[in-house]
Amino acid sequence: MRTLDFIRAKRDGEELSAAAIQEFVRNLVAGRVPDYQASAFLMAVYFQGMSEAETHALTEAMTTIGTDLDLKPASGTKIDKHSTGGVGDKTSLVIAPIVASAGILVPMISGRGLGHSGGTVDKLASIPGYRTDLSAKEFLAQLKAIGIVLAGQSADVAPADMKLYALRDATATVDCLPLIVSSILSKKIAAGLDGLVLDVKVGGGAFMKTLPRARALAEALVRTGTAMGSRVVALLTDMESPLGLAVGNALEVSEAVSVLKGQGPDDLREVCFELAAWMLVLGRVAKSLEIARARVEKQVQSGAAVSKLRQVIAHQGGNPGIVDEPGKLPRARLQRELRAKSAGTVQEVQAYPIGIAAVVLGAGRAAVEDKIDPGAGLLLRKKPGDKVEKNESLCVLYSDREASFAEAEALAMEAFVIGKAAPKKKKRILQTIEASHLKASKSGPKTKQKR
Ligand code: URA
Repeated sequence: MRTLDFIRAKRDGEELSAAAIQEFVRNLVAGRVPDYQASAFLMAVYFQGMSEAETHALTEAMTTIGTDLDLKPASGTKIDKHSTGGVGDKTSLVIAPIVASAGILVPMISGRGLGHSGGTVDKLASIPGYRTDLSAKEFLAQLKAIGIVLAGQSADVAPADMKLYALRDATATVDCLPLIVSSILSKKIAAGLDGLVLDVKVGGGAFMKTLPRARALAEALVRTGTAMGSRVVALLTDMESPLGLAVGNALEVSEAVSVLKGQGPDDLREVCFELAAWMLVLGRVAKSLEIARARVEKQVQSGAAVSKLRQVIAHQGGNPGIVDEPGKLPRARLQRELRAKSAGTVQEVQAYPIGIAAVVLGAGRAAVEDKIDPGAGLLLRKKPGDKVEKNESLCVLYSDREASFAEAEALAMEAFVIGKAAPKKKKRILQTIEASHLKASKSGPKTKQKR
């Protein structure tokens, strides 16, 4: 099938065969599909959706074609975690060392920032010297040596996702259920994972804005991941406001380190510890969630988790000194304080405008080739429920670009909603979806998972 026919078929709402999808992915990985055709395909999927069978076929093709990574030679239980993307979401940096320090292998392949949401790879890349682009050989060798790898996609590790992911970011095709499912699972299951914990974000700062849409995504991920042979669980977590206080790459690394040292904001600790506990349950080192939660606390309090972080940073060429001296992380040249225009109680800190403000300041990309400024971002001083005086600081903005402040300040100001009454306290963890909860589903065009 010519790429043009493939795009036309999807544009017209036809169901693509597994063989056609495989051919497309093979051509994509071999560099035979120009970006404009790959982008057209993504847009056609965005509007037409994909059946469950197509989603499965795309995931499988992206998982197997062009990737040389095979984790089977590393003996031990392999469990990973992935988030669907949010603002201030540095959970992977906290969770992976906790779980690895408890004896589970954590082969984590992450993505870079997408749209307004940050990406783990960009956060890791803000650590001076840290290499995120490991070859399959290096990846496996490190997993065997220290039980943890925190890397990104590369030419031989999830190459199809590497291409599509960057194009989706620049073509407004990120928030599309079958594309998210195939993107995440192809990176994760690719290499033969035993279990996967998914953090599906819900709310204004997530790609899935409502609970029903987030639940549909979580179910599709659990279903497809289970069908591919992994133990999968998804937690729906709130993303109306940024997670923690830091938004921006190096700022978030520093906050993640503080959680590993037993400090850090409560909401971040709560989400990280629950996700880590589920990883221990899937990894069968804990018989119950209760036992797993206690084990997570122990890994942090004993210092084992933070030691694991030092170890992985050093192994990947980074400076582990940032763990004890966060001042060694890059910091933007300029900073501005955003002050409250009136007194009251913070009702909301909307994650979406904060995420866009971070991109404007240089912490994310507006185009595929944009360079990230690792020290840029925002540090919140106030969270929902906090009292604030007139002129008191709401947040600090960091950037190297003087010209970016006006727009970023306006966005951040829009994010802070100040009122009189105390807002209702919101839960961060909303729901857990396990494979055993899901009904068997049919495949085929009638079960089309649109966006
Ligand atoms: N994370 C991914 O890896 N892919 C997506 O499409 C969204 C979030």
